[in-house]
Parts: sequence; C-alpha cells; structure tokens
Amino acid sequence: MKLFGSSGIRGITNKDVTVDLALQVGMALGRSKKSAVIGRDPRVAGEMIEHAIISGLVSAGCNVIRVGVVTTPTLAYTARNYDCGVMVTASHNPSEYVGIKLWNPDGMAFDSAQQEEIEKLIEKEDFVHSKWDMLGNISTYENAVRDHMDMIKANSSKSTLKVVVDCGSGAGCTITPFLLREMGCEVITLNAQLDGHFPARNPEPSDKNLGLLKKAVKEFGADLGIAQDGDADRMMAVDENGVFLAGDEMLAIFARFECKEGSKLSVPVDTSMIVDDALPGTEIIRTRVGDVYVAEKMKEIKADFGGEPSGSWIFPRISYCPDGIYAAARLVEILQDKGLAAIRAELPEYPTLRDTIACEDSRKAKLMEEVRYKMAGMGEVSDIDGIRVEMEDGWVLVRPSGTEPKIRITAQARKNIEELYSMAENIVMESLK
Ligand code: MG
Repeated sequence: MKLFGSSGIRGITNKDVTVDLALQVGMALGRSKKSAVIGRDPRVAGEMIEHAIISGLVSAGCNVIRVGVVTTPTLAYTARNYDCGVMVTASHNPSEYVGIKLWNPDGMAFDSAQQEEIEKLIEKEDFVHSKWDMLGNISTYENAVRDHMDMIKANSSKSTLKVVVDCGSGAGCTITPFLLREMGCEVITLNAQLDGHFPARNPEPSDKNLGLLKKAVKEFGADLGIAQDGDADRMMAVDENGVFLAGDEMLAIFARFECKEGSKLSVPVDTSMIVDDALPGTEIIRTRVGDVYVAEKMKEIKADFGGEPSGSWIFPRISYCPDGIYAAARLVEILQDKGLAAIRAELPEYPTLRDTIACEDSRKAKLMEEVRYKMAGMGEVSDIDGIRVEMEDGWVLVRPSGTEPKIRITAQARKNIEELYSMAENIVMESLK
C-alpha cells in the first residue's frame, strides 16, 4: 500500500485524506515513538486531521505536544526536542487539499524506509492500544515560533531593507513579517491574515500567482518582494523592479553565497546549467526531483547548500528542512550591499523549453526503456530520475510525471534550443508509436 509520496501523505480532504487514515497514521507512529510534536498550516481541514492523529498517538501511549498553526520549518525545528514531528499541511496545493508530513529530530523528513514501515503497520492494522492508565498525554508548547525566530536571528545579521512580504494567508503569517522587522527591515505585508481558503492567491509562490506582490513592490518603492507557500518551507522573490526571479536564478544566487571553492552543492536533475556556470569551483551533484531527495543527498555528501528551483532552499548550518523563513532572512542579508536586479544581471541566461506529452501510466516504463536506448551515446547519460543527457552545448531531460499520465521534456541550450528540444520530442513520439 502506497500512502506516502515524495512529500508525505497528501490529497483531497475527506476523499484521499480522511480522519480514519489520520487516526491510523497516529496509531502506527505512536507504536515506536514516546513523544511527538504536532503542528498544522491554516488549511480548513487541518484541525480535524490534527485531532485524529493526536487520538491515534495517545491511544498508542505516545505523549503529544501541540504547537498550533506554525510553518513546516518551525515544526521541523521544534522536533529536535522530541522523538518525532508531525506536520498537517498540503504545502503549496490549493485549499481543498490536506496532508501529513513526518519529521525526524534532526530536521529531516521521514525517509522511504521509515514511510514504508508506517504503511506496513497500517496495511496489517498492526496497532497496539495502551491500557487506560498508560495512554499518552496531551500538552501545548507556546514558544515554538519564538524559538525558531531566535535561532534564525542568531544566524543572521541586521538588514535595513524595505521589504514587501506576501504570506498568501499561509502559515508564514505567524513568523516571517515579525522576524524581518526584528532584523531591522521596514516590512509591508500582503495577505498576512491566516485563512485556509487562501482567498487572495493560490498558495504556490509562482510567477503567475504573484501579480499583486510585483505591483506592490513597485508602488511602495521597496527593495524586494518575498512570497511563501502555504506552509512557508518555500520562498520566492521579486526584485526592486517588480520582476519575479526564476527558481534557477534564486538557486544560483543562494549557492554563490553559501558555497566556496571546493564546496558541494546538491540540486535535482531538472536544474538549469545557470547553476553550473555560476559556480565554477563547486561540485554539483544532481538528485531525483523532490526536496527530500535533495536533503538526503546533502546529508550523505556533506553539501554546503542544496535546493530545488520550486523554491525549497536548504541551509544545513541550521537544518535539513527547507526553510522559507531563514531563506528570506538570508536574502535580506545578502541584498543589504547590492540590489537583487544587479545580482541577477550577473547570471548567464539560457533559453529553456519545457513541455509535456500525454502517456498512460502503464506505458511509461516501456517508453523510458526505448528513450534510454535511443539517447545512449548522445552525451553523458544519467538515469537518476528519468533520462538526462548532458551535451557540449546543453542538456535534455525526459522524465515520467509521478502524479499525472504525462512525460515531461525539458531542454536547455547555449544555442539551437529548438533543435535540441525537437530531437528529444521526436524520440518520445517515435517511442510512443
Ligand atoms: Mg511547502
């Protein structure tokens, strides 16, 4: 039984993710843990799912500590004091979604083996119910946000920028504007009221969802705009001209400030070669797509930085959990001396094409075998996630979508991008026949 995806359990409320399932996750997790800290983003279904998980944990004899509505990085940081952390969130998904993500005390999400163990217990209904006088207890902890802020402040210097923060009514409302103000910034907030309906914008901090932020940065004459997703593990930015920075650009900018000569950097296979070209002395290791895989690899190779162009930035000096609040603090620190538009202008620009081709799930494996065969010998081939071929003047990635009946094609080139893309597209189309 597969319950966990690359970002925990996630789905539509009362359809895919139900109180029954949440109760079972609590009972399964409580078997091996003595204490669990639990938090949630402001989603409508969050509290319902939280109560069910708590009941399951307590029935199995696990003590539960509630921290209320917090960001995912706040919860992951709080987990350091307990046996595990539970976050009720569907991250950047729309409001009808809800989910459950489990955390280790070191700030790493549960890995595949840990997730499979929970799945197995649920499948076999292998639960243990405590005797009445051995039930877990429930308490609250009020200082989770304060602790997280203090940790970030201890790792940051002052900044006096004027910043517009768009929390998107997500959990970032509880911390990001307050932290930046305490760091010395002049803060203007947008959508800074918690609301699980996400009334102002889709929680994903993508270019198309941030029209209001781009406008506000220009109208207020701010130095920077910051946007986060529903649980604030992701952070994206808009420069002083109201221009949204692509994820690859953000990744290259952070990496330049985090990595030194000889550093290691971990990024997913679909990351732009902007990053390679911007960081000549850095060893860049590509992983499967998903922040959990990036974090696992970072820990293994002791990377100085890692991230995903989707907006997940991982700073191992503070945690292996992507932290959209620390990322915001780090960015205002970096920009204290130089504007974002100027820093961006130093990065190379390469044309990139991305598209999808419909393909039934049952045909994906065979198709990818064909693609691998046809692309062998065209360049340096990597099969970490799909097939990626690195050539002299660019690269192409053919990857089956994990969630939809589609094949994704990405191509990036220093020259002749159309030629490179259609070569890959033709191979996929031919293999589909
Ligand atoms: Mg998120």
